[in-house]
Amino acid sequence: MMIQMMSVAEQSIPTLSLRRSWLGPFQDIVEEDGSFKYYADGEWQTSSSRRSVTISNPATREAQYKVQACTQEEVNRAIDSAKVAQRVWAKTPLWKRAEKLHKAASLLKELKNPIAECLIKEIAKPAKDAMSEVVRSGDLISYTAEEGIRVLAEGKFLVSDSFTGNDRNKLCLASKIPLGVILAIPPFNYPVNLAVSKIAPALIAGNAVVVKPPTQGAVAGLHAIHCFHLAGFPKGLISCITGKGSEIGDFLTMHSGVNCISFTGGDTGIAISKKAGMIPLQMELGGKDACIVLEDADIDLAATNIVKGGFSYRQVLEFLWIEPTILSIAKLTVGSPEDNSDITAVVSEASANFIEDLVEDAREKGASFCQDYKRKGNLIWPLLVDRVTPDMRLAWEEPFGPVIPVIRIKSVEEAIHHCNSSNLGLQGCVFTRDINKAMIVSDAMETGTVQINSAPARGPDHFPFQGLRDSGIGSQGVTNTINMMTKTKTTVINLPGPSYSMG
Ligand code: NAP
Repeated sequence: MMIQMMSVAEQSIPTLSLRRSWLGPFQDIVEEDGSFKYYADGEWQTSSSRRSVTISNPATREAQYKVQACTQEEVNRAIDSAKVAQRVWAKTPLWKRAEKLHKAASLLKELKNPIAECLIKEIAKPAKDAMSEVVRSGDLISYTAEEGIRVLAEGKFLVSDSFTGNDRNKLCLASKIPLGVILAIPPFNYPVNLAVSKIAPALIAGNAVVVKPPTQGAVAGLHAIHCFHLAGFPKGLISCITGKGSEIGDFLTMHSGVNCISFTGGDTGIAISKKAGMIPLQMELGGKDACIVLEDADIDLAATNIVKGGFSYRQVLEFLWIEPTILSIAKLTVGSPEDNSDITAVVSEASANFIEDLVEDAREKGASFCQDYKRKGNLIWPLLVDRVTPDMRLAWEEPFGPVIPVIRIKSVEEAIHHCNSSNLGLQGCVFTRDINKAMIVSDAMETGTVQINSAPARGPDHFPFQGLRDSGIGSQGVTNTINMMTKTKTTVINLPGPSYSMG
């Protein structure tokens, strides 16, 4: 398909006054008044609620986009269509499912500019990171298509006489079957990547998907869904229901038509887990990633990684055992996402206020600041808070912004104890030149992932990724997610008498 698109620069859209003709292949997803439609039953639709949700640009704090506030009736209809479409999709040959996914992947990459533009405007993601999120998402879809072909092609064959007391008169064929309708809920910080990391495995495994995008990030999400629409997936198989999580979230997550929930976000996931029915849950929740720097570490490497990791777009890092003065954060640029600044506005005023409360609490309890605390609107300048102690909230709560706490500890054991005392157990990292020590520390850290000599990172996307304790349920990564979105089905062939091959 040949697609004519404006470049990111050309396409800077005046607030809420979209000219549809600028939107190229995305024209169908926008109303005349500039608000974005929702997607169900293979069509872009306007909600009967006649209400919309306004999305603010975090950097300008002005209204940027509007999306539909979908109703419960619209959720019901999307789930009903998903059920019908899924039954047909499950009978579609695996290679054909993969073909469609490859098509969606190439469309996503081809249309990366306008999608990245939404990420810049909705979540203040620096331009280069916005672009790489979209491209990486295309790669993730293609990888999932390939992996699905291999993983889902294989089942298991078992014979009964391996279990005590049995003859070989039963042959068992175990294969993987789809679950049905997957509810996918991504967070604001990766609204495209963490949507497709749920959509692609669901589809390759023969499921239907209902996506509830984050409000900030919904428009990027809708653009990504349109790539699946253009790729020609059957109507009803994919839908995208917009609206505030606080309004339609419970209705979606407790819906009897949903057969699995894949969620990424914060503590909301804990509440969902308590309310959801007897269905598989994949929960990818908050992190407070301890970075332990041992005395023999390559200090330059550690310092570079801490600055890069801790201040990259919405990372959650704290570090233990390093002189903060060696960290050069002066070189970080602070400003607008369009200018590719390293540090951009946090997603909302509420988020900025939350960070400020954490910082103030640390100041009141005696932490020392390596820079002056500075905030303008939602923009917070990078800050290292030294001598953070366990009585401070910053030692335990994730700021989800450009603030790194430094906790000074006297031994490796103390560092590990701090790491393991947190409710959150997503990732951690250890810097040392000694691989034996690295392995001992890694084994002792009770987190889903430990990075040796690098900042915490999610990916490459096919690596298993999981949180312990309040950081999540289940494991992500392409293969794990495909497996999680299937169930094992067993067929047993009962022979009239024992039969041994070559016997
Ligand atoms: P959030 O507030 O938990 O929201 C996540 C998603 O849940 C959004 O789509 C949100 O929609 C929706 N939601 C809100 N209330 C809901 C409800 N009652 N039922 C169902 N869905 C509901 O998280 P966030 O602020 O978007 O993202 C930041 C958090 O995500 C951080 O804690 C971060 O650590 C975590 N995160 C974790 C990972 C990981 O790999 N483990 C990766 C990325 C982010 P609305 O936007 O409409 O409220």
